[in-house]
Amino acid sequence: MNCFYHPSVAAAGLCKSCQRGICPECAVELPRGLACRKRCEEDARLRVALEDRNLRLAQEAAGRARRQRVGLMVGGLFVALFGVYFLVTPIQGLEPLMPFRVLAASMVSYGVAMIVRGYIYEDPAGPERIA
Ligand SMILES: [Zn+2]
Ligand SMILES: [Zn+2]
Repeated sequence: MNCFYHPSVAAAGLCKSCQRGICPECAVELPRGLACRKRCEEDARLRVALEDRNLRLAQEAAGRARRQRVGLMVGGLFVALFGVYFLVTPIQGLEPLMPFRVLAASMVSYGVAMIVRGYIYEDPAGPERIA
C-alpha cells in the first residue's frame, strides 16, 4: 500500500479518520494511530478522545456491575445462612411456631435468589450499549 497523497511512496499506516494509507511525511502521530497532517488531524483526535471516553465508561460499568454482583452474592449468602441457622437452631418458645419456620425457610430461598441474581447480574448500562 502506498501513500494516498504520494502514490510512489510506501504508506506508513492508515489514517484514523479517513482510513487512507499515508506516508511518514503526510502523517501526524496521535496517542493511538496516525492521521493525515492538517486534513484529518482534528477529526482523528476527536475519535481518539471518543475511544478513551467509551473505554472509561465501559470500565466504570464493569466496576459497577462487579460491586453490584459482589453485594448481591455476599448479602444473599448472609440472608441464606441466617435462614439456615434459624431453621436448624431451636429457639426456646419459638420452636412450635409454624410462621417462624416459614419465615426462616423463605429467608433461605430469598438469599439463594439473591446469590443467583448476583451471579447473572449485568450492568444495565453495560459496555455493549455504550459502543
Ligand atoms: Zn485522513
Ligand atoms: Zn505522503
